[in-house]
Amino acid sequence: MLNRILTLPESSLKENLPYTFQFLLDKGILAPTRPVDNVKCRDCDIDHFEQIVEINHRYFTKCEYNEYASLSEVQAPELNSYRFNLTALLEWFSKESKISTQIKRVNEETWYLGKNIDRNMYFIFSTSLDDTINEAGKINTENNIFIWLGNKPLTGFSTIEMVSIQDIFKYKGGGLYILPYKTKPNNVKPNQKDIILDRDIVLTDDFHLLLDFENGTYNHSVKTYPQTYRIVRYLYDQRKYGKYYSSKELGENLHFGIQRVIPTRIKELNNICSKHRVKQVILSFPNKTWALNPDLNCFK
Ligand SMILES: [Zn+2]
Repeated sequence: MLNRILTLPESSLKENLPYTFQFLLDKGILAPTRPVDNVKCRDCDIDHFEQIVEINHRYFTKCEYNEYASLSEVQAPELNSYRFNLTALLEWFSKESKISTQIKRVNEETWYLGKNIDRNMYFIFSTSLDDTINEAGKINTENNIFIWLGNKPLTGFSTIEMVSIQDIFKYKGGGLYILPYKTKPNNVKPNQKDIILDRDIVLTDDFHLLLDFENGTYNHSVKTYPQTYRIVRYLYDQRKYGKYYSSKELGENLHFGIQRVIPTRIKELNNICSKHRVKQVILSFPNKTWALNPDLNCFK
């Protein structure tokens, strides 16, 4: 399946990869495969493929939909095809990244590449952010970095460290290079006690609000109060559509001596969110009640 999708004619490779085609060929990342046996018809407006026939060592097609069509010669670049060799790509990547190479396929989508200092490096064959997060979730080693194929999302929260191949491959002077990649510093890594509210909002158990996930890290870390954490923790643990809490209930359940601190902390929290243009964490509901914003991803 993978190979079939990734077998491409020389003509389209040269068109799409004009600068890197030869490099990829030299590195074995593109490997010649047997000649194609059909090509896209150029003799009519219908989008279809035609069988190639050989006549005296030359190759031709004839459109089956156009009764006036004559034989149409197929040139070498269209006959030559190449298979994308993923293993060769991963080996090259590992060598360039100075990963102690130990490539092995973990499952259908994921390869273990080896260790880069103390990090376990993985490759996930996916362009979808959700699929990549899902695949990464199946890995049970610690301290991992996942290389994937997709576009880096502008915003988005993930508890895993992902590096897009698109951000680290650089073409220069006829070759490809791997740029150094930044990874999330340890001090902003969510742990079990952290409250993952949304893709872009995490409240850590040391009372920091981490906001605006981008490029493998959070752009902002804002200190809040222990009371803020306790209020959010409670609302998060009890979260249920249509369930609201008054300041009195919250104060009693959280054993706060002074209930009026609750609206103050909530307001401060939401102000931080407004300032950084992320969703409000706690919404006010009729009869002076509060609940977590049901639009937060943690409700899904
Ligand atoms: Zn045709």
